[in-house]
Amino acid sequence: MESELTLMAVHAHPDDEVISTGGVFARYADEGIRTVLVTCTNGEQGDGPGGVKPGEPGHDPADVSRRRLGELRESVAHLAIDHVELLGYPDSGMVGWDANADTGVFANVPVEQAAARLADLMERYRPQVVVTYDENGNYGHPDHIQAHRIAIAAAESTGIPRKFYHTAIPRAGIEEMMEYLRSTGADMTDFELPDDFGTPDEEITTVVDVSAYFERKVKALEAHASQGENIFLLRMPDDAQRRALGTESFVRRFSAVPSPDHEDDLFAGLR
Ligand SMILES: [Zn+2]
Repeated sequence: MESELTLMAVHAHPDDEVISTGGVFARYADEGIRTVLVTCTNGEQGDGPGGVKPGEPGHDPADVSRRRLGELRESVAHLAIDHVELLGYPDSGMVGWDANADTGVFANVPVEQAAARLADLMERYRPQVVVTYDENGNYGHPDHIQAHRIAIAAAESTGIPRKFYHTAIPRAGIEEMMEYLRSTGADMTDFELPDDFGTPDEEITTVVDVSAYFERKVKALEAHASQGENIFLLRMPDDAQRRALGTESFVRRFSAVPSPDHEDDLFAGLR
């Protein structure tokens, strides 16, 4: 018997589920596909009340994670995600932060250990489609890189996913957005990005139209209120948000079913 069509996204922190995969979660749920979110860390290294950073007075990691996991539940409700699995590893913080040195943080857990737990979840849900970040975690965050590593290892050891994707922010889209924002006279000082940010357009295989789910993505983003300062999209004008959130792009890493070079559906070839 064919198992139920299932999407699994493997993310590092509470809030990562929204920008790159919130639309596909909502859209595929609407289409009757089962959706599973795996969140690897508790997000302890996020902002505390008033935007305080780890190590600063008033930043209590346990309190930050409690708050963020509560926000995650709200976000998940907006996106109609069926199952949320928390691996519960401590957040490693950004590159160079003190937490990097703690042996127990997610980025320092042996890959095979965390991958075995993820493999168990793949056995349970049998996702045909798995989504995570690219080798560089899309922007170098140690927890995003580790999420990529364990997702690859679990996919290989179980052989369960038929299609495997990296989330992507197309470079052309970023340039277009920057130009657009400049043209509106927006203050761009907050939006400086490294030159190599984003994925070269020729590598993008899959672009999914999620414009119908824009409002729900925004609500899900807003649910992560304690991290609001870090979510620059929320500070952009409404029409710019619509452009940025209306499509989600991916790079197909492998497919066990025939798939076109350019597709508009992660489940193309599977239904
Ligand atoms: Zn993250």
